[in-house]
Amino acid sequence: MDNDKEKKGEKSSDLCKHGNFKGDCSVCDKERDRVFKKRDIEVESDGRIVLYHATIGEKLVKILEARSIKPSQETGERNWGSEGEKDDEIKKEKVYLADEKTLRSQVAPHQNFDGGRVYILKVKVGENNLRIDEDSGYEDQEDWLGSLDDLGMLSHKGEIADFEIFDKLKYELPKDRITFYSEKIYGAESDDEAERWTRELNEERQKNADTEDELVREAIESSDED
Ligand SMILES: [Zn+2]
Repeated sequence: MDNDKEKKGEKSSDLCKHGNFKGDCSVCDKERDRVFKKRDIEVESDGRIVLYHATIGEKLVKILEARSIKPSQETGERNWGSEGEKDDEIKKEKVYLADEKTLRSQVAPHQNFDGGRVYILKVKVGENNLRIDEDSGYEDQEDWLGSLDDLGMLSHKGEIADFEIFDKLKYELPKDRITFYSEKIYGAESDDEAERWTRELNEERQKNADTEDELVREAIESSDED
């Protein structure tokens, strides 16, 4: 650390791993450009980064009411992992994000165990609050660029107020899985029977999804009012 930096009272956390000020390092800039290009990441003119978050209808209603995507600590809910595991406290403070392609192909399908809707939210976030996704294998929470590079996933410390609904995915549960469920739940003794129960289960889920759509629509309308 040179004298200039000390005079300004900079802490080591203001420096990148190359020893330069964050935001003023050509090595970091080049690395960021490479990863953003690879992951197709847009940057706003004010420097904020565009990323994506997946959620289900029930949670979207809460997000719309709060006008904010909140970390699990504040909502008391969680999508990933289980209570008491490693990094649990850190995870509770974060909202998990991904690039659009990774979100669609890898994150969204996991939000859909019940065969319901998955909503994709587009968010704009500052770099300072970006952190790793623990599945990336990076130890340092600040290595979000590596996490995005390797995994297409990362996280944001704290709530995110700048979001919009970007897309809604309609899933039907894959046939093998739903057949498995209907055999398990209803004890079907033949393929025909399992098929029929599968169809009924899908119809029921479609009805639930329609009800949920209505709740989301109402939440969108009331968040648009004022
Ligand atoms: Zn650097």
